[in-house]
Amino acid sequence: MSLLSTLTERIQDVENLITAACERSGRKRDEVQVVAVTKYVSVDTVRQVVEQHIVHLGENRWQNAKPKWEALQQLPPSEQPIWHYIGSLQTNKVKDVIGKFTYIHSLDRLSLAQAIAERADKLGITVPCFVQVNVSGEESKQGLTPEAVPEFLRTIRQYPSIKPIGLMTMAPFEAEAEETRPVFRGLRQLRDQINASGILDEPLTELSMGMSNDFTVAIEEGATWVRLGTILVGKEEV
Ligand SMILES: *Cc1c(COP(=O)(O)O)cnc(C)c1O
Repeated sequence: MSLLSTLTERIQDVENLITAACERSGRKRDEVQVVAVTKYVSVDTVRQVVEQHIVHLGENRWQNAKPKWEALQQLPPSEQPIWHYIGSLQTNKVKDVIGKFTYIHSLDRLSLAQAIAERADKLGITVPCFVQVNVSGEESKQGLTPEAVPEFLRTIRQYPSIKPIGLMTMAPFEAEAEETRPVFRGLRQLRDQINASGILDEPLTELSMGMSNDFTVAIEEGATWVRLGTILVGKEEV
């Protein structure tokens, strides 16, 4: 990846990689959506990203997202991006995030579910959420253990304003992307088991998995959302 490559070139390169991964795994291109992770770039770059018709933006900290979110509020409603909260979410930040970010990718504990539900009820909205799972078992990674997910999903049924739509995971950083495959496969198998078990009235359809260094493997293993920062929008000193 040349440092000089422009945003449009990067978008095209990523598109080609996604298409190829879909072809290799017999999937349709429209089964995979991209969240452009803008945490490493400036407000100006975020504007350019949106001008390239990228609709879904992801941020992992409200503090950093705030100026970008506020700047883009000035766009006409039809041009506004859809925001995804992808980082660990502190309960005291829920009031800032819910209502602004449409999707939460990092639901990982009951106290957070309760806080999101309270806020959503106040706003009269339903929040589509991914349950974050620590498939690899790395201590540094957030998320529930795979074993804890079914019971968690059962418990959050008491919060109708939370709509669990899928599972999210982060793979360990591996020099060889291929080594992440068991983690992504594990998340897909967990989703399929949960759907087969009938815990939920509506099946979990989504898998949020894959970042710049491993997204093609994640797509081969069933990702429906890939979260791409560096490879897609770049990384700036901001
Ligand atoms: C930063 C981040 C990404 C994107 O990272 P890149 O490697 O730059 O693509 C994806 N998911 C989460 C949860 C992140 O924090």
